[in-house]
Amino acid sequence: MVEQHAATVSPTSTEVVDLLAGLGRVLSDQIVADRDFPPFRRATRDGYAVRASDLANIPARLEVVGEIKAGAAPASQTRTLAPGQAIGIMTGAPLPEGSDAVVMVEHTSAVDSAIEVTRSVKSGDNFVARGAEARAGQILLDRGHRLDPAAIAIAASVGKSRVQVYSKPRVAILSTGDELVETDISPGPTQIHNSNSYSLAAQVQNAGGEPVRLPIAPDEPMRLQALIDEGLGCDLLLLTGGVSMGKYDLVEQVLTGLQAEFYFTGVAIQPGKPAVLGSCGAGALARLLALHAKPAGGVMPAPQKKYFFGLPGNPVSTMVTFELFAKPMIEALAGQTPQPLIFPAANLKSEVRTKTGLKRFLPAILSGEFEKAEVELAPWQGSGDIAALARANCYIVIPPDRERIEAGEWVSLLMR
Ligand code: AMP
Ligand code: MG
Repeated sequence: MVEQHAATVSPTSTEVVDLLAGLGRVLSDQIVADRDFPPFRRATRDGYAVRASDLANIPARLEVVGEIKAGAAPASQTRTLAPGQAIGIMTGAPLPEGSDAVVMVEHTSAVDSAIEVTRSVKSGDNFVARGAEARAGQILLDRGHRLDPAAIAIAASVGKSRVQVYSKPRVAILSTGDELVETDISPGPTQIHNSNSYSLAAQVQNAGGEPVRLPIAPDEPMRLQALIDEGLGCDLLLLTGGVSMGKYDLVEQVLTGLQAEFYFTGVAIQPGKPAVLGSCGAGALARLLALHAKPAGGVMPAPQKKYFFGLPGNPVSTMVTFELFAKPMIEALAGQTPQPLIFPAANLKSEVRTKTGLKRFLPAILSGEFEKAEVELAPWQGSGDIAALARANCYIVIPPDRERIEAGEWVSLLMR
């Protein structure tokens, strides 16, 4: 559902940044191999360049006629190895003409100016053929690729010290609730700090967006409406709180007043059931006011459609629903080629019991080494328990039809 809407959005501008500043950014230009990779037949072992046919019968004795180290002058490559000869060669050095394999130094012993080889090699052993990794002109990274450390290395390897990337989408974050106070204000006895604006801002940054934290919206329609309108000026608006069934949950009502269109107003998951996706024209409030001012005539230009998510206020619900729904939209706005969400699996350490009906995402602790991945539930007090996330490093995904999952079963995980 989100994917279908995400497919309709795209970034509007690009910029050029230093390669390392490109980490986490999305390429708006292709990265192309500037030459063959490797550009010469590259030794992958320290040893001797040989003709494999000279080693049909072993042990064999070969005359050592020189040495080639990595970065050696090109002439060393063009010198020709004659039958019965070997040339010392280092990892990363170019193979000389006439040779067709490298024998590892471990399988040789030096005897005066010759070597005795104790193991045969096949033609092609222990070097990479020119262009085997990539051909000159080949696309190594396409537009829409998000730069991770490996992609940074690829760009560096073709000599790019600057890269062209899409501009980051600006994502407005609006926390709602009369009980909230900003982080630097000391809360009254029944107030709490606004943590969702921070978790969301951090998640937006991780997803490749530029967070714009708006002031807290009270549970009061006029101020909420004004702040929603401000948020619609960004590329995407994330709201938290005020989307449940409570008397003061005003978000949907205010958005409806601004002529928003809703695509879903609830999801069969827990935590996160009340999550909402919709869209609304930017400048909705001005249009509404203009409409009241002169009800007849006056054609207004079609407003730019902006998506919004209304996420539930409970801190764990907010974080889970961001990962599941908002992240793919931000990635699309950032120009990233759509990526399926990946749910790795791990072995359940101890039995889990839940109620059926909703797909559940329960904070959990993933541990174990190498091929032994184990997971168990983290103790928690429900989706308001932000402190539980300090103990957890993932969520176990429980299918809606399972009441009980035995220890030893494989379960899917949502990573965070
Ligand atoms: P709501 O979705 O507005 O009904 O809020 C559900 C719960 O989440 C309530 O206990 C709120 O106090 C809490 N909550 C709502 N917004 C935030 C926020 N921005 N930061 C931390 N907790 C919040
Ligand atoms: Mg609320």
